[in-house]
Amino acid sequence: MLQEILRNKYNKSIEECSNEEIYVALLEMVKEKAEERSHKEEKKKLYYVSAEFLIGKLLSNNLINLGLYADIANELKEHGKHMSEIEEIEVEPSLGNGGLGRLAACFLDSIATLGLNGDGIGLNYHLGLFKQVFTDKRQIETPNPWINENTWLTKKDDSFEVEFGGFSVKSTLYDIAVTGYENSTNALHLFDIDSVDETIVKDGIDFDKAEVAKNLTLFLYPDDSDDAGRLLRVYQQYFMVSNGAQLILKEAKAKGCVLTDLHEYAAVQINDTHPTMIIPELIRLLVKEGVSMDDAIETVTKTCAYTNHTILAEALEKWPMEFIEEVAPSIVPIIKELDERVREKYDDESVYIIDEDDRVHMAHIDMHYGYSINGVAYLHTEILKNNELNNFYQIYPEKFNNKTNGITFRRWLLHCNHELTALLEELIGAGFKKDAMELEKLLEYKDNDEVLDKILAVKTAKKQELADYLKETQNIEIDPTSIYDIQIKRLHEYKRQQLNAIYAIHKYLSIKAGERPERPITMIFGAKAAPAYVIAKDIIHLILCLQEIINNDPEVSPYLKVVMVENYNVTLAEKLYPASDISEQISLASKEASGTGNMKFMLNGAVTLGTSDGANVEIHDLVGDENIYVFGESSEDVINRYERGDYCSLDYYIDDKDIKAALDFIISDEMLAVGDEVLLKRLFKELLKKDWFMTFPDWKAYVETKERAFHDYEDRHAWAKKMIVNIAKAGFFSSDRTIEEYNTDIWKLTK
Ligand SMILES: *Cc1c(COP(=O)(O)O)cnc(C)c1O
Repeated sequence: MLQEILRNKYNKSIEECSNEEIYVALLEMVKEKAEERSHKEEKKKLYYVSAEFLIGKLLSNNLINLGLYADIANELKEHGKHMSEIEEIEVEPSLGNGGLGRLAACFLDSIATLGLNGDGIGLNYHLGLFKQVFTDKRQIETPNPWINENTWLTKKDDSFEVEFGGFSVKSTLYDIAVTGYENSTNALHLFDIDSVDETIVKDGIDFDKAEVAKNLTLFLYPDDSDDAGRLLRVYQQYFMVSNGAQLILKEAKAKGCVLTDLHEYAAVQINDTHPTMIIPELIRLLVKEGVSMDDAIETVTKTCAYTNHTILAEALEKWPMEFIEEVAPSIVPIIKELDERVREKYDDESVYIIDEDDRVHMAHIDMHYGYSINGVAYLHTEILKNNELNNFYQIYPEKFNNKTNGITFRRWLLHCNHELTALLEELIGAGFKKDAMELEKLLEYKDNDEVLDKILAVKTAKKQELADYLKETQNIEIDPTSIYDIQIKRLHEYKRQQLNAIYAIHKYLSIKAGERPERPITMIFGAKAAPAYVIAKDIIHLILCLQEIINNDPEVSPYLKVVMVENYNVTLAEKLYPASDISEQISLASKEASGTGNMKFMLNGAVTLGTSDGANVEIHDLVGDENIYVFGESSEDVINRYERGDYCSLDYYIDDKDIKAALDFIISDEMLAVGDEVLLKRLFKELLKKDWFMTFPDWKAYVETKERAFHDYEDRHAWAKKMIVNIAKAGFFSSDRTIEEYNTDIWKLTK
């Protein structure tokens, strides 16, 4: 098939074509085939509105979903070409930041796979999230351009006028096809403006924040450490939702919708609070078309649903009213009206939309004027109901529901782990590709030595692949027979990379003291820190210093290596999860809403070392005590500790000699010789004097549990059995299950 396409396009054989030429031909072919499968119009449509869609590279995923992957890969191979080399031509779209954006991408895949009528709405950031480069053992942010002449973006005819205060812009719409696995194609709609000027970016990711027409869709999450940056975020948000609202109304009207019946034509899922202004914007547009304020509010409330992703207070958006007055003056009266109505009904000021400092609480708009409020894992939703959002739960108990996150198995198993997929197919048939719960059939083999050896062989192959890749790209050598202990996720104190890094110091010191581990350990980190998050960047510096000291110490490096991969993104994630033995999920209990990395690890046969937080709790329930390493304080313990306000990290430093030794090492001569004194001392002080996310109460339990896991690893068959149980029980975490639940409980689209 490919041969014919290349003949027609270039008049060349496969052998004669460059990888780039093959990539371009495949891109065109996939776009055409995807288009042929476009979802037929139905009365009701879901609109998933999100500031981020961390979609990853699309070629292989689309080939898999279109049922073409195996044929193309074989044809390439027969002619001396490799699919993996063709994949490398593609640049990863840089449209997301972390878990929230990746979730949106998994959801789009599952919505299309289930044949549901649902599109994504977002922004077409030209330079995306920053690209991370390590220089002098520090994170440097550089622009991440990803749009070139060979792009998945298709320019559409739709264009809308968006009115800001004092000026207006006209949007351009680009679509990316979202293919369903053996099903129809939906769309990801990305709005943009033509006047964006990439040349205004100066040093790193700095740019002139004043000229909105030039910078509106340059970057995802422009630095919000000053007012100009914060204001730009509000401009982006309003631009996204005004376009979204206009598109939604246009499509509904085309289907003959009477505007007060909008909820019968559209369900709008608001992914975290970034798209919240779509509520006042839809109300404004309905009123403009002659609907009464009462009816407009009622209709929009029946149309919009909100997903909460965090209990971290600092992450809940509160915009000064003056920002909204500047950016979107036409929705200010609507927001004031919405707030008035709340004030008329409730005395409790904590549920008001506009607070006494004239700040607008975005989540409050969503909860009063949406019909559903969901958390993203069982524990998270319970904490929302009983603690964080209890005041709203009292008012609207019927709106609250849980939707435990999920991941698409097409990308996180079929695409990223061909070897494991083939083995599973050989053992239990291909049914799991459509129905993830069929993975449970694997349990039958958990005592079969031959199968256990095969599972271990697959893991070793993936570990070797990662070792080869790291050697080639970062010139770091790691040993595939060592234990790969991996923590990859955004850098945040609540995720506690610092706990893991302090363990690395502890281990280093004990090896220096003559205590060798039973088997070499490779500790792998991958994380970007928000550009203005000082402590997070200091933790990256710490890890990079440890990497240099430990890997270059001939007494230690045969037994311990520390690796921090540069620019952790989806492409790297696809290499790391399949190669992992131990999945580090060590967030401070109550703080990680769900996690989805934990699910990808499990699906690829890694065993979790984690706290009772987020979806780890559900993983634990599914696999049982034998097949997970759980440690640390419970979420209630942690919540109570915050309430008491009596946490003192210095006490742990004084009382525990291992903690003291490890922390002192951070500012030791050895470290100061390779690192920056200012950064290391600042981090040391932070950990001793503040440590807001409580690194140390779990220290002892963490070390003990981790050592136990390392020891258990030595019984290779017993370990392989744990791997099998984890894979077999991962079916629950398919995003197909999550999306079924969203549809049954919230969207109610016909299938
Ligand atoms: C899955 C994923 C995440 C989320 O990881 P968590 O461990 O759940 O925080 C972040 N970034 C990328 C690239 C991912 O693939």
